[in-house]
Amino acid sequence: MISLNTPLEKIFRINAPEKKGLKKLGINTAKDLLFHFPSRYDDIAEIKNIANLKEGDDAIVYGKILSIKTGKAYKKNIPLTEATIEDQTGTIKAVWFHQAYIAKMLPTGSFAKLKGKVTKSGSSVYLANPEFEKTKELPIDGSDSLFQKNIEKPFFYPIYPESKGVSSRWLYYHIQEILKKGDLNSLIDPIPSEILKKYNLPTLKTAIVWIHSPKKEFDAQAARKRFAFEEIFFIQLVRQKARLEYEKNPSFKITTPTEKISEFIERFPFKLTNPQQKAIDQITSDLAKDKPMSRLLEGDVGSGKTAVAATTSYATISTRPEGQDFGTLQVAYMAPTEILAKQHFGSFIEYFKHLPVNIGVITGSGCKKFPSKVDPEGSTKISRAQLLKWVESGEISILIGTHALIQKTVKFKDLAYVIIDEQHRFGTAQRMKLVRKDGKAPHLLSMTATPIPRTLALTIYGDLDLTLIDQMPSGRKKIITEIVLSAQRDDLYKKVRKELSDGRQMYVICARIDEPDPNKALALNVRSVKAEAKRLKKDIFQEYEIDILHSKMTPKEKEETMQEFAEGEINILVATSVVEVGVNVPNATVIIIEGAERFGLAQLHQLRGRVQRSNHQAYCYCFADTKNKKSIERLKALKTAKNGFELSELDLSLRGAGELSGKKQWGISDLGMEAIKNIKMVEAARTEAQNLLREDPELENNLTVKERLSMQKTEIHFE
Ligand code: ADP
Ligand code: MG
Repeated sequence: MISLNTPLEKIFRINAPEKKGLKKLGINTAKDLLFHFPSRYDDIAEIKNIANLKEGDDAIVYGKILSIKTGKAYKKNIPLTEATIEDQTGTIKAVWFHQAYIAKMLPTGSFAKLKGKVTKSGSSVYLANPEFEKTKELPIDGSDSLFQKNIEKPFFYPIYPESKGVSSRWLYYHIQEILKKGDLNSLIDPIPSEILKKYNLPTLKTAIVWIHSPKKEFDAQAARKRFAFEEIFFIQLVRQKARLEYEKNPSFKITTPTEKISEFIERFPFKLTNPQQKAIDQITSDLAKDKPMSRLLEGDVGSGKTAVAATTSYATISTRPEGQDFGTLQVAYMAPTEILAKQHFGSFIEYFKHLPVNIGVITGSGCKKFPSKVDPEGSTKISRAQLLKWVESGEISILIGTHALIQKTVKFKDLAYVIIDEQHRFGTAQRMKLVRKDGKAPHLLSMTATPIPRTLALTIYGDLDLTLIDQMPSGRKKIITEIVLSAQRDDLYKKVRKELSDGRQMYVICARIDEPDPNKALALNVRSVKAEAKRLKKDIFQEYEIDILHSKMTPKEKEETMQEFAEGEINILVATSVVEVGVNVPNATVIIIEGAERFGLAQLHQLRGRVQRSNHQAYCYCFADTKNKKSIERLKALKTAKNGFELSELDLSLRGAGELSGKKQWGISDLGMEAIKNIKMVEAARTEAQNLLREDPELENNLTVKERLSMQKTEIHFE
């Protein structure tokens, strides 16, 4: 028996490129290899011998490219690519129209998997426009007699995430060896057995075997389900535990009478929407408890979260610190950028100017205080030291700022309520820092406009209660959204020019920063920020100021450009999706999104939110560089969906969890993201984690769980 902790080098002969590849995949020991899961399975039963293909078959073939070339189709000016592919049984032609780059992707001598319809032409057959995938080799050696079905091989053949030097096939064979010779009984299942039984999940050992060597499709699914559950279950445990930890601290009891709050609201120049009112009710009832609130307020851009933040801040500052008959409890309001901090400062002055309350703003570039001695309606610049002094003495009731706000140098007297706007990075560690020396912890409200499906919210914000604002204020002009085909480009520019000449501003969104690498097929046709800005200036909008904004610029450069755009010095801003969260420029009423089919619907919706702040009619034009009917249908949901949440759910159902790009964005693996599609599974993981911690808060009777939990990264990377 090989111990699973044995380094692979001690088990197999591993050459230098393999070593490098394994390192890249994070695989060191036999155990690591067993936990390198397939990303998918190929059904070998579906793979056909080329010699047996008949007209009308929907076939998958594996083979070697014998020749490939691109020419023009007959008399038409259409690029036509023709390849000949060979397996052990014969050869067949494959033909593609309009995809000249394929010849670069599948050079002569490479291996490929092709999937397509067998079509007849004269006396021979060919594959018409097959889907293709380059493979490093055939899925199993020719000598394995892939095409004899009597051999002992799984019909569901696992395909693994590869790395240079380590192919899927290499991984398959070495994993099979470990499954045969490794000490699988040493695997200790971190999921309590009652939970496994309750949800009919396979044990760890069984699941490991099934995920790598499924005898039938069900096995693979059951194993994946188990590991997905495990991942979500442990994320929930981490989150719930952090929450319990925070809730151990007492908080400030804030019991401002409802009538006073209603008075504050009655001064608004608008009537609250129902969800806004409900959010205020929920938050004020949380604030009245003596344990700290942890709540997430999700609502589309423009849904009026600031009014909720202001009203609940008002409730807080209407309360005196305990045992004191002067001063107020304090509020900190944290914004992601300086410009937004300043905007919030402006909004809060509007909301509070009738009250005797001091508001401060602190950013990297300076500090201000409202009201000013000379102008009771306005604010005045003050030194950082002075501001900090007033915050510490409690004279400033509300402090607004960027993350500078919670740095050590900023000391509050009685910070009772922290509002965090679009700061996904505000994690457990930062939260614990807010706990005061005397053990009291402030209430927390996180606000976000990022629409994500409910299952995902329940998972990544497992430690927060959820409040949704799923309705826009009435009377808002709807953004006119159009799906535009490439052929209509000139007409569109004419329409847009009219807006520009009326003094409006425009965003143009491109998926890339630089010119694409012509060797990468998927990069083709994707417009880049830099090239598009040049092109628009040279060929289309010569008379307008055009500038660019993208993620590779420094924060300072970005802020400067946004400032210039906000001041109207730039007419057209060509940008990557970085403008998703940023400043709102009310005069920008047009957004053009290039290659819209490449974006998720929720993301498009957020981009479109940038032009929603105006009294002028706003327009969103999505260029669809695709002839694919389904893609265009999908984009049309932008015209009909009621809000961002609906669109994020659509993303999930139409394109799958991958669309939500889990790993990168939320710290969840691709496998874990499979669970996100399943509300029952997410709810089960959440309930079980809650129950377990309720019965055994320190996990003293569940040491396996405790150990697994200690290995879990406690901070999930929010980006
Ligand atoms: P967000 O949710 O994006 O933070 P804001 O709070 O900035 O949205 O609100 C956007 C605009 O809508 C502000 O100008 C605000 O005054 C206005 N607003 C907020 N609530 C309502 C409402 N119920 N009816 C009409 N306008 C509202
Ligand atoms: Mg806001």
